[in-house]
Amino acid sequence: MIERVWGNAILRGTGLAALTAAVLAGCGGDLVPRGRVERPAKPVRTARPAAPPPMELRQCMAKLTSQSVLFTPLPDQNFGGGCSATGSVKLIDIGVPATNLGAMTCGLAANFAAWARYGVQPAARLILGAEVERIETFGTYNCRPIAGSGKLSEHAHSNAVDVSAFVLSDGRRISIQNDWNGDRRVRQFLEIIHASACKRFRTVLSPDYNAAHHDHFHFDMGGRGGFCR
Ligand SMILES: [Zn+2]
Repeated sequence: MIERVWGNAILRGTGLAALTAAVLAGCGGDLVPRGRVERPAKPVRTARPAAPPPMELRQCMAKLTSQSVLFTPLPDQNFGGGCSATGSVKLIDIGVPATNLGAMTCGLAANFAAWARYGVQPAARLILGAEVERIETFGTYNCRPIAGSGKLSEHAHSNAVDVSAFVLSDGRRISIQNDWNGDRRVRQFLEIIHASACKRFRTVLSPDYNAAHHDHFHFDMGGRGGFCR
């Protein structure tokens, strides 16, 4: 309900769009419990913080702008089956090119942009002696359950991103799949940017977590935070 009110507030003034969003929000709903983390072994809390109020969203967008991040605010959308993208943006330019970025909640987008610029890029320069020219991702929004679970993934709420590889200015391509257990320097680079991610995102999953993450880092802003594997 909070999200619906929020959606209306964001879209107020756009008339038909606001009305349409409200109607659409009414038929999808959060019928499927929202999962916290991709952690099949133990039951986890499904509580999810309420959607941020308009003020928080405005502050988040102001923060992106102040960091010279180029983005487009997206209208709230409900896709049915519990899947939605609310309070989301599309990142256009964060200083480091990144592929496959679709709808991301503003908080996820802000942390991703900061991670790319202040975590990944300096680590690459320092440890690998090269610039990161491209961060490759498997995407953001995806209406699907957590692998091996009936619960919806944070991807189903545009609240997660999967990072798969880094292309460097010297031509090297470092992928999670091939290099997580690679040579010492590359491993050090991946460990440092993983640790940097753990300071920024609520949930961070790597190949160390389970086989489903053998080829990417999963970052999301769901749950209570502090889950770093
Ligand atoms: Zn993921």
